[in-house]
Parts: sequence; C-alpha cells; structure tokens
Amino acid sequence: MLKDEPNENGTGQENLYRHVPSLNNLLLGPNFQGLLGTHERSVVVQATRDELIAVKQQITSGQLSQHNLATYLDVLPDRVSERLQSRLRYSLRRVINATGVLLHTNLGRAPLSTSAIDHIADVAAGYSNLELDLETGERSRRDVHAESLVLDLLKMRTGLAGEEEQPRAVVVVNNCAAATFLALDAIARDRATIVSRGELVEIGGGFRIPEILAKSGAQLREVGTTNRTRTADYESAISPATGLILRVHQSNFSMEGFTERPLLADLVSLGRRACVPVFEDQGTGLLTSLAPQSFPAEETLLESYRQGVDLIAASGDKLLGGPQCGLLIGRTDLIERIRANPLLRAFRVDKLTYAALEATLIGYLSNEERSIPILRMLNIPAGEILERSERLADRVRSPELSAEVVSAVSVIGGGTTPRAKLQSYAVALRHGTSHCQDLLRSLRHLQVPVVGRICDDRVWLDLRTVEPELDETLAALLAELGGGSASSKQQA
Ligand SMILES: *Cc1c(COP(=O)(O)O)cnc(C)c1O
Repeated sequence: MLKDEPNENGTGQENLYRHVPSLNNLLLGPNFQGLLGTHERSVVVQATRDELIAVKQQITSGQLSQHNLATYLDVLPDRVSERLQSRLRYSLRRVINATGVLLHTNLGRAPLSTSAIDHIADVAAGYSNLELDLETGERSRRDVHAESLVLDLLKMRTGLAGEEEQPRAVVVVNNCAAATFLALDAIARDRATIVSRGELVEIGGGFRIPEILAKSGAQLREVGTTNRTRTADYESAISPATGLILRVHQSNFSMEGFTERPLLADLVSLGRRACVPVFEDQGTGLLTSLAPQSFPAEETLLESYRQGVDLIAASGDKLLGGPQCGLLIGRTDLIERIRANPLLRAFRVDKLTYAALEATLIGYLSNEERSIPILRMLNIPAGEILERSERLADRVRSPELSAEVVSAVSVIGGGTTPRAKLQSYAVALRHGTSHCQDLLRSLRHLQVPVVGRICDDRVWLDLRTVEPELDETLAALLAELGGGSASSKQQA
C-alpha cells in the first residue's frame, strides 16, 4: 500500500498539490511527444487530465507522500499510455466459469459447439443467402434456415413423423421473452388470456408475466389460486372474449405440498373443444430427457410438442444449448399471424444467430449431442470431475494456497429446473494471507478471469462447468496466485 502517515493538518497536502505539474507543462515534456505522435491530441489530453485527477484524489485521501508522489509522477506517462491502451482492449472477454452453474445468465448462458462457432465464422466473413432462395433466385424468409430443422427434430424425437394432425411452422426471434410478447400481441391483443394464478410469475430480469400481458394489450383473466388450479377453472372462464389460454412453465421455482395443476394434455383438449388456442411459454428448450440424471422429470419441449400445444415459445440458449434466441413453434395459422405482426421486424435475429442455431440443431439431428457443450457438461460423471479436481488441487497447492477437493453440487441455473442437483466436486481454495472475498476477486483479475463461488469461507471451483481442455490453463493461472501474488495482483 502507498499509504503512509495520515495528513491531518492539511499543510502537507497543499505542498504536495504544488508539486503536481499542470496539464500543459506535462504535455510539453519529452515523454509525451511519443504519445502525441501516435494518438490523437484530444485523446491524450483527456487521458492525462484523468490521470492528474487521480493523482489529486490520492493526495486528498492521504495516500501519497512527497517521495511517493515523485515516483508516481515519473511513471505518469506510462500510466497515461496504459490508459490509452486499455481503451482499445475488449470489454467482453472469455472467462472460466468454475461456479458449477451450467446456464449462468451473467456468464452468457450456453457455450456454443465447435460447429456452431465455425459456421458463424464462415457466414460472418462474407455474404450469405440469408434471405435469398438459391433455387429460384427469389427473395425468401430467413426462418427457412431453422424451420425444417426444428420441425424434423421434434417429429423425429417425438415419433410423430407423418402422423401430425396439423402443419406446424417456426419463427425465430431475439429471445424467449420477445417470443412470448410477440405471440401475445399477435394472437391475444384486446382479447382475454386465461392464466392460472400459480403461473403469474417473474421469470427473471424483470420479465413478469402480468406485465408482459399488459404491455402486449392482452387482457389478463386469472383463474385458480396460487397453489391449485384445475382444468374446470379454465373451462368456466372461457367466453366469447377469450383469445388464448396461456400456460407458463414454472421454470425457476418449484411448489410442493397441496398443489394441483392441469395436465398439459387436458388443457390442450379443452382448447380444442372450445376453439381457443393454447400457448405455452416453455422456456428451457429441453430436447432430451434428463431422466438418466437423478432429478425430477423436467418438462421438455418435446413433451409440449407431443401433446399438440398450439403454440410454444422456447429459449435457444438454455438447455437447447444454442445461441440466444427465442423459438416460436406452432400451428401454421398462428405462425402466419405472428409473421404478419409488424413487431416481428423489430425482434428478428441476424445471420450469426441463424448460423449458430442451424449448426446446433444439426448436432442433434446427427446424434452428436456430445458436440453440444451444455449437454456434455450435464452428463459428465461425477467421478471424472473428482479426478480432474484432484489433479488440479495437486498442481496448485502451495504454502500460500491450500487446495482441497470437496464434494459439491452443480445446478443448471438460468431459470431452469430449480430442483435439479448434479453431484459434483470442487477444488476448495484458501489463501494464506487474503480473505476469501479477496481471493475471489483476484481470480477475476487473472489474465483469463476465473469465476468461482464462496462456500464455507473458501473459494470453490467446480470443474463441471470448465471444459477439460481448459484444465491446464486453469492450473497455470492458479499457480500465479500460489506465489503470494494473490493480493498484489488485484491492484494491477
Ligand atoms: C427463461 C425463460 C424465459 C425468458 O427467456 P429468454 O430467452 O431469457 O428471454 C421465458 N419464459 C420461461 C418459462 C423461461 O424459463
């Protein structure tokens, strides 16, 4: 720390301020000529001004002595240069997610498969047939790049190929929130939408079902109670004003005890009888069964499709494991109304999203689910994580840094499957001289930031969410902390 004796009387401080050169004098100095030669003058001026303000703040807070100030001023041109360079550094960076939370919204949710990344790079590098039918040379819809893949996959996996009652179509938008909003606006504007009181939920990030309904102009018709809603409640609420029955996947919480909720199949058949479309905000986009894992059956996109829900909204970057987007899958007549809605233009996605989505879906269709990182992480056996954790702990353990392998639980996160717990292991770190909060911060300041979590006064790193290819990198990064640099690093 730079701090020496505090300056209580203020006279020392005033002296110090006088030693701080003026902006103009600084800029005339030889050290600044190089900077002025390589950067625009106004940018150098601004960066230097910011540095001078920082110096004065340090004097005010009593952190600089006369001696320190001289040293500080010597390196001022370097600090300005560093400031100029840091402006050009990427803000969005790759990080190592060692939280054990598979779908971490703050960390960008699903990582993409290699084929998705390659396809993005290829499509991004040049022009593409985003809206051009290469057969006819005519203009086409961008949704063709996902539509038949989504439908083929759903038919194949539900075994419904060829025996469908109604043709289906697909629209891709920015995210599932946009998909839900668009569907309500297109189908239920100025009409009543029946929703169970148990499903008037907040999904996260301020996405609240009642508010979304209000914004879309759909009128909320609540039925049932928080814990129990029956098919009969929906049935008796149906009137000529009804435009839609909305079902919301209770994705980020679970209710236990005296609860009741109609089967999806019952709602679908009620909708058929009453000629009211059923729209499900399915959310997770789960296309596989989580059954091999030992947690409660999760509602899947497959099941919604199999039950014949008229319109389904799902996220692309949750358990589907693709790019951020929202899929709307439904009856052709409903999708046509969505396509005719002017909001679709505002919610549409770009070519990079189609590239990633298409590649992800092809991964499923060609039965290469292991190519999809989220599914791979979901299925890593705990024993494998234990081995990797032991290897990592052995490599990073030092007199400064203790590392012990502990039993842990990974979660899926991202507002999905709240009851799902995956048996895992973590490397629990403790630094000799820094508090665990400081250690956690030091990890974030490594060359490749590492994000862990605090548990029992230690920093836990759960390798379930770390690609095994990164184990080596992680070990090398952690070794830096072991050298006693854990606390000095974070000041850099
Ligand atoms: C996650 C989720 C959403 C929001 O999805 P985004 O793709 O983040 O917009 C909406 N509904 C449900 C049920 C969800 O689980």
